[in-house]
Amino acid sequence: MYHYLDNAATTAIRPAALDVMVPLLSEGYGNPSGAHRMARQANRVLDDARDTIASVVGAEPGRIVFTGGGTEADNLAISGVLEARGGVAVCSAIEHHAVLDPVVHHRGRVVPVHRSGLVDLERLAAALDDPALQGRVSIVSIMAANNETGVIQPISEIVALVREHAPEALIHTDAVQALCWLDVAAIGAQVDLLSISAHKFGGPKGVGALMVGERAELSPLLKGGGQERGRRGGTHNVAGIAAMAVAAAETVAERPGQVPRVAALRNRLADGIAAELDGVIETGVVPDEAGHPDRTGKTANICHLCFEGIESEALLFLLEQDDIMASAASSCSSGAMVPSHVLAAMGFTRSLAFGSLRLSLGYRSVDADVDAVLASVPAAVRRLRGQG
Ligand code: PLP
Repeated sequence: MYHYLDNAATTAIRPAALDVMVPLLSEGYGNPSGAHRMARQANRVLDDARDTIASVVGAEPGRIVFTGGGTEADNLAISGVLEARGGVAVCSAIEHHAVLDPVVHHRGRVVPVHRSGLVDLERLAAALDDPALQGRVSIVSIMAANNETGVIQPISEIVALVREHAPEALIHTDAVQALCWLDVAAIGAQVDLLSISAHKFGGPKGVGALMVGERAELSPLLKGGGQERGRRGGTHNVAGIAAMAVAAAETVAERPGQVPRVAALRNRLADGIAAELDGVIETGVVPDEAGHPDRTGKTANICHLCFEGIESEALLFLLEQDDIMASAASSCSSGAMVPSHVLAAMGFTRSLAFGSLRLSLGYRSVDADVDAVLASVPAAVRRLRGQG
């Protein structure tokens, strides 16, 4: 028995997605690039999956490039566009490393965010207007929702701003954390490129897709057999792609019910911890006029907290003893703790960033998971603070 509160890292495969994979691996295993009947059958599976994914992200089927996950989709968007068009990439400071690292690698511009986790739109406009960059910005990449805090970016506003200040630039959004909780078709209809990853919504790991709009020219990262209309070489992961489509369709169909259900669980989690402990900051949350936390700017599933006076590693250890699986954003690199770049960009001190905890819910989360966390976290934090 365990309580899994790390669904933003990955979530359990949906049974219907698993069911579609096995026969495709054991029986329908033809290579879709081939010329015989089994190849054609595999190709039809791909076509159906492409139709489904296209409707989920608000695009025509021909606009979908299947990839080996979210990291590849993000890398393909940034590096593929820069290779095809030249110029400079611009992104926000809280992007996932799958965007941030290629942007930095290509000497792009990284725009700051506010304490709220929202991109500083004035600084974004200033970067696009910068005489040093003007006319050379090829791609602007701003994520739909952040993987650590759940903060949702105002994509419509960002699209309008980019179109005004850099009309030639393509707009990419990393929607890897958004698909379960936001209307990704509406977002996809506004941007030029959009990334998703199957394992975040109940599909298998190592499969994803990049939506490539009609304005976007793109060079392949993986050069080879010319698959995906020359945009991504490599034999297709047919079973994984089919399972991704099943998971995506199920996720979108369930979304209207899951969002309020999961938000209620998350609110009980966050409110319950805040009621028990002092010195807790919930990231990306602003009090409304009555002083209650307003979480409408975050995805429904993420409760992200910073505790004063503790270290997340020790907290995670105690939580695991209570069979609670959660995560902290700080990571250990070459033996030294590195605070989360997201929290650093939001202006959190190192010590607060080291005391962060992300509890992320998913489609299978239930009240018992919240009860278990509420029975464990306050006591563990008090113990680490030497108070209990
Ligand atoms: N982008 C975001 C926002 C993510 O949360 C993740 C995964 O953690 C990725 C990209 C990378 O996706 P994948 O694990 O499929 O490579």
